[in-house]
Amino acid sequence: MPSDFSDGLGLSPAAERRIGDQMARSLYRDLDYLDDPIVQDYVNSIMAPLLAAARARGEIQPEMDDAYAWHVLLGKNKTVNAFATPGGYFGLELGLLAVTVSRDELAAVLAHELSHVTQRHLARMMAQQEQQTPWLIGAMILGILAAAKDGQSGSAVVVGGSAAAAQSQLNFSRDMEREADRIGFGVATQAGYDPEGFVTMFDKLYNANRLNDSGNFPYLRTHPLSTERMADMQGRLGVKATATSKTNAAASEDPMLEHTLMAARAKALSSSGVDAQQLLVAQANMKATTNNTSQAAATAYAAAMGAMQLRDWPTAQKQLLQLQSLVAGKPLSQRQWRYLQAEYLLATNQAAAAWDLLMLDANHRAGMWLRGQAALALQNQAQLRQCLIERRSWLVEHPSDALMWQQQSNMAVATGWTLGAMRAAAESKAAEMDIAQALERMRAAQAWGAKNPATSGDDQIELSIIDSRVRQLQSQLKDLQSSKM
Ligand SMILES: [Zn+2]
Repeated sequence: MPSDFSDGLGLSPAAERRIGDQMARSLYRDLDYLDDPIVQDYVNSIMAPLLAAARARGEIQPEMDDAYAWHVLLGKNKTVNAFATPGGYFGLELGLLAVTVSRDELAAVLAHELSHVTQRHLARMMAQQEQQTPWLIGAMILGILAAAKDGQSGSAVVVGGSAAAAQSQLNFSRDMEREADRIGFGVATQAGYDPEGFVTMFDKLYNANRLNDSGNFPYLRTHPLSTERMADMQGRLGVKATATSKTNAAASEDPMLEHTLMAARAKALSSSGVDAQQLLVAQANMKATTNNTSQAAATAYAAAMGAMQLRDWPTAQKQLLQLQSLVAGKPLSQRQWRYLQAEYLLATNQAAAAWDLLMLDANHRAGMWLRGQAALALQNQAQLRQCLIERRSWLVEHPSDALMWQQQSNMAVATGWTLGAMRAAAESKAAEMDIAQALERMRAAQAWGAKNPATSGDDQIELSIIDSRVRQLQSQLKDLQSSKM
């Protein structure tokens, strides 16, 4: 099958992906970029059923499936924003996660963004910009995103001056928004999310809009909400509500609680400065009398994080104990407690306890990563080798996991495996779309291998992989350079 077909849009999925890769490279380098494995895992767990449903419904065609990245990048900004780039990258600011009250609300936003991508709205917009090269459009979108993060000043940049022209050209049309609503709604519902998430999320954004709070809600500038769109959503909910059987309240309690904890984590991670962290701790003391489990757990979670950032270990420990009792009997939420407890143990020189605590979590990415951090802290050779073996199969299936490659590189260094460390460091750069850096490092690994004869089977395998990766990265770099100019 030709990989460069263009469905009348003048831009093939492969070409669109190259633009997305360039944008992703900038996003990975942004100071706002957050590689928090705990939130990332959670967001991926919400996204995966949406992708599966979109595939089942034929919204994602095989060619698009292969060409696109389907990856969510997190930003640690407080602003309420989410976006999609050409080629299937998604951006999610922690501020948006922090204001959602259920996984269904988060799924609604992601499903809407996903549908902009599957309907190729960005490709269509770019095709309309005849006087601009697609790459310039990508740069413009990035500029608008960067401006949006600055809140008030950002809004001035976006609405004022010549940027206004760019902005109006880059806004999705009303028809596109309606289409993303309609298709996103179908995808989210088929994925098993409560359709009411769409209505409550839209309500939230609509109210923020009415309160003229859009400085902190850049999402509203790119997704204008009309009463008509609200009515559409409510109409669809009416249709679906009769068809959807009532979910068991007890069964949904754990996922609800887990979401609340992740929203609390998002809030804590996007709060910077001593004052903000002290406030998180103070709130735990104020709300000590609440009898709402979910609220109490979220408060304890955020307070524990605030206390850890303040290095107030006794308070962190107290809040973690409180959290542990509130999540008892709820496996998803319990796992989130274990992760946070492990972070506390790692921060307080109790890495051996962290390793033991995560015994059963090594098959989840965040658990694997935290265990890896424990093994690195302990410099325990047996544990490090065990981790290296676990990661090898993980990375075969997830070759674009930059964070895991980085940890793999650190582990290879700790076990004295130079060639493995050099390649993993190069792969980490490649995963973050810094292809020039990746190629440079991969060549350095190749040169090292030429000077130091392989002493193990591992090294021989590694060397042949490095040779083929050098060739792949060379052609990838060529493609990028030709699409940029
Ligand atoms: Zn939209």
